[in-house]
Order: sequence, then structure tokens, then C-alpha cells
Amino acid sequence: MVICPKCKSDRTAPILYGYPSHEAFEAAERGEILLGGCELIDSMPHEDYGCLECGYCWSKELLPATKITKIRYKVAENGPCTLDSRNVRIYEVYLDGKCVEYLYQGQCRRYQFKTEEKISNQRVYKLACRLQKIIGAPLWEKDIVEGQVCDGCSYELQITYADKRKEVIKGDVAGGTFDSMLEEFIHSVFNDER
Ligand SMILES: [Zn+2]
Repeated sequence: MVICPKCKSDRTAPILYGYPSHEAFEAAERGEILLGGCELIDSMPHEDYGCLECGYCWSKELLPATKITKIRYKVAENGPCTLDSRNVRIYEVYLDGKCVEYLYQGQCRRYQFKTEEKISNQRVYKLACRLQKIIGAPLWEKDIVEGQVCDGCSYELQITYADKRKEVIKGDVAGGTFDSMLEEFIHSVFNDER
């Protein structure tokens, strides 16, 4: 369910662009979709959801960084090691400054270590701003480097927004844009040498 990041209402609907069909008009009347008009610039992020309660329109790419509620960064070893010795690290960063690290080993479903740190919410906000600046950039300004390695670690970055939707970015930990940013951040928070 998508909720309005402004008034928290769950009476929201996706926005349909382009010239609407007869069915689309009817669906809009029932409040199932919103009509966004025909003007749309390709490769530019645009609002894809609207609130029927307060009229606010947004997309997760265009939301301000303050509307990020959680950043989750998962790093898994891939490569020559077997599943039993595989290490997985999960970092959860919340906007209030709470940062949690979980360490999983092998196929064990329960974490082996959990470390919690509290940092200033300003530091988290700065990271959220840096991420959102890249995510919300128009395509021609998106300067994302993706590093690639065969037997290092892969990552999954999950950003949760106030509308309950998630942005998921995956790649290898190899000096790319997102992994460098997150690696730098978590090392400064947890101060570990890995
Ligand atoms: Zn609303």
C-alpha cells in the first residue's frame, strides 16, 4: 500500500500519463487512477502517485531526503567460498541516527552478531541527501559508476520512503558510486576494518 508522504492518507492512486482512454476516464472517476496529462519529458523523473485526500503528487525519486525513512545496505560475499562459510553483513540506517549492523554466517538464518550505534541525525540526513540527489537526477545527469568484480562481494541497497515504497539498487562492491558511498559511511559509523 502506498501512503501519502504529506498527510499519511492511504487514499492514493497511481498517475496515468498520456491521452486517456474511455476506460481510464472511468477509472479516474472511481478514484483508482489520476490523470497526469500528455506532457511528459522522457528520461526525466516525474510524479507517479497522487493523494486523493490532499492532492499532493510525488514519486520516490522526487521526494526530499527527509522522506527517506530507512536505508538498508546488504553485502554478501560471493565467489569461491561455499554457502556454509559465506558472510553476509546487513546495515540498517534510520533517519533518527540509529544504525544497526547484523552479521550472518553461512546459511544460518539468525544473525551471529548485532552491533548498534547512534550517530547524529545530521550525518544520516547528509547520506540521504547524497543518495536522493543521484536517484532523483534526470537521466542525462545521472553519473553512476558500476564497479564489477567476479569473486568479491555483491550488495543490495534498499531505500524505504515515507510512502512505504522502496528503491532497490544492486551491484558489486567494487568502487562504484553507491557502494563507495555506503562503504565509506558504514566504516565511519562502525569503525571496523574490513
Ligand atoms: Zn495526502
